[in-house]
Amino acid sequence: MFSIFPELIRDFGAHSLLGKAQERSLLDLRAHDLREHTDDPHRTVDDSPFGGGAGMVLKPEPIFAAVEAASPPRPLLLLSPAGRRFDQAFAEELAAGPGFSLLCGRYEGVDERVREHLCDGEVSLGDFVLNGGEVAALAVIEAVARLVPGVMGNAASGLDESFSSGLLEYPQYTRPAEFRGWAVPEVLRSGDHGRVARWRRAQAVARTLRDRPDVIAAAGGLGQDDRALLEAHGFDEHGFDEHGR
Ligand code: SAH
Repeated sequence: MFSIFPELIRDFGAHSLLGKAQERSLLDLRAHDLREHTDDPHRTVDDSPFGGGAGMVLKPEPIFAAVEAASPPRPLLLLSPAGRRFDQAFAEELAAGPGFSLLCGRYEGVDERVREHLCDGEVSLGDFVLNGGEVAALAVIEAVARLVPGVMGNAASGLDESFSSGLLEYPQYTRPAEFRGWAVPEVLRSGDHGRVARWRRAQAVARTLRDRPDVIAAAGGLGQDDRALLEAHGFDEHGFDEHGR
């Protein structure tokens, strides 16, 4: 990735599973400093916008020079609120490819010629504006990295997470079995794997219907099996139980 704050990316990437994955050569995360590719004593990366207006714009020369010096894996994606919205499907596309690169804007953004003539696409974290692309780049890197085989400690744990099956995840519990009077659902302690699996599926379907009906609609609605499962677990067709939850 390319940034005027590469140390933010390096620090984050050195910790936890990303750090371990790099030690084990499962990931190769490189943070390039745009300032290293300036040729004035002040290492200037920005300038005021032609046509006037507030703020500064990242200049094209250091960005082109940094990218040309590194010849990084493509696609090179510009972080931008105008980009394609990042989601799990986008993460899976990137994880399936041989690699990718990210360019972080700052200030008011980057010179349009960078977008037009250097980058292959744009990616957005959502409909809000950050001060720079670094936080967005980290989100993309982390979401993609955990799809790379071997990066997650437990290979199975990525399989039934939110969105991977087109559903939000079912509720998770750990010890103690009772905390402040709130007990863990009995079925999870039953040892009956079939019952547990059915309960989890029913919970995931109900939760998705309640909180993200758009996800169910995008998948073409509920199948007959899921409808039956919901009913058997006391949920109505909108995912609510008898308490309206
Ligand atoms: N003036 C721009 C915003 C610039 S914010 C506009 O109105 O669109 C500075 C930089 O932060 C951007 O160049 C981009 O790299 C990053 N950024 C801000 N919001 C983002 C978002 N939602 N997703 C991804 N990157 C974002």
